[in-house]
Amino acid sequence: MKKTAPFNPVWVIQKKRDGHALSESEINDFVGGILSGQVKDYQASAWLMATTLKGMTTEETTWLTRAMLESGKRYDLSDIPGAKVDKHSTGGVGDKVSIILAPLAAACGISVPMMSGRGLGHSGGTLDKLEAIPGFRTGLDENEFRQTLRTLGCAMIGQSRAIAPVDRILYALRDVTATVECVPLITASIISKKAAEGTDGLVLDVKTGSGAFMKSLPEAKRLAASLALVGKQMGLKCRALITNMHQPLGYAVGNALEIRECMEVLKGETRDNESSADLKELTLQLCAHMLHVGGRVKSLAEGRKLATENLRNGTAWTRFKHLVHAQGGSVAAVEGASTLEIAPETFIWKAPKKGYLNAIDTEAIGKLLVLLGGGRMNAEEPIDASVGLTFHRKLGALLKAGDAVVTVHYRLQTVNRSAEAIAALNFQELLGRALIIASTRKTVPKLVFGQY
Ligand code: URA
Repeated sequence: MKKTAPFNPVWVIQKKRDGHALSESEINDFVGGILSGQVKDYQASAWLMATTLKGMTTEETTWLTRAMLESGKRYDLSDIPGAKVDKHSTGGVGDKVSIILAPLAAACGISVPMMSGRGLGHSGGTLDKLEAIPGFRTGLDENEFRQTLRTLGCAMIGQSRAIAPVDRILYALRDVTATVECVPLITASIISKKAAEGTDGLVLDVKTGSGAFMKSLPEAKRLAASLALVGKQMGLKCRALITNMHQPLGYAVGNALEIRECMEVLKGETRDNESSADLKELTLQLCAHMLHVGGRVKSLAEGRKLATENLRNGTAWTRFKHLVHAQGGSVAAVEGASTLEIAPETFIWKAPKKGYLNAIDTEAIGKLLVLLGGGRMNAEEPIDASVGLTFHRKLGALLKAGDAVVTVHYRLQTVNRSAEAIAALNFQELLGRALIIASTRKTVPKLVFGQY
């Protein structure tokens, strides 16, 4: 493209600060400058804040996404036969869907090139969960990734450092400059990475509720619409669902506990009070959408039927075991998932009075997991996969005084938390604030609020 003016990052920051839309070449220059080092971190941070406060037009968001996508490597998966469809969640607590969904969708006949992230703030990450399986390698090289995808129809890895490097730089700055919750920036971050991984289609699970980054439904709708639109502009077949994060998904929160729960769903084992029902239902719905987006089925109803059958008959479970084997994980450990190590100490939070479990501060639950050592306070920290929480009751449950609601699984000292830090946690008080019990029952929010 022909240059029309010399580039000075200060002018671009100023223009955004004053609420004007940037041109395509200004955005390209700014992104190029971040990559080359011409734009300093403090300038990128100022621009991020200006963008968070003043917003971006759809055109600007699309240009930013394209510039970020083109800042790095783009996988070409055209030699892998069949439709390739990935799923991406905007992040939540107990959101372990990908671990069931990838092998399930592959068992239904599409390819799933899944590139996931680590835990971020209060929300968990698929890579951390998978690494709770002894030996499981999420750092496959490109050849191993292609080979696994070709033979098994799915592969689950972390994002290569070569993909969208500008997002890596910007994300680290956003994390420490209070500029994460910005629809155009989230859109460019997610779609640039997904378009680079070589998938044809993408189903987005946009979470809303107390455990989501988008707490309100209107915010989640704005994000879903933006993701779907910009995804399509980047050539992806895109669909975005808005789903419930008013409570943890399923019953387990914490990496090894969540793997256990996933194995139960894949094996078709149900638990005491059907507390994995929402997890299973959402997985089936997302799978139906992936099959539909990928053209494997003509309708969502047909997709759901195929997904239900492949979960029920054990094909997805067998596929998962093959995936674990292919990625170096212990099949014995997932076959007997009860052998995965869970932290030895427990604290049971009991209902202090009779009433309905009406609300859960799900973000506080995610933060408690971080405090226990099951999540990170900074990017370099190791984590303890064995700690977490088990929910015995879900929203809407009628409780008697003394009923067990949540069990905390903890260690007196972990790889990343001192004995003093663990001893300072007052579980009774923390959970008492996070779990609201009342005498009249509030309607439980639905699982799926809409789609774009
Ligand atoms: N996940 C991402 O990859 N980027 C964001 O900006 C938010 C969530």
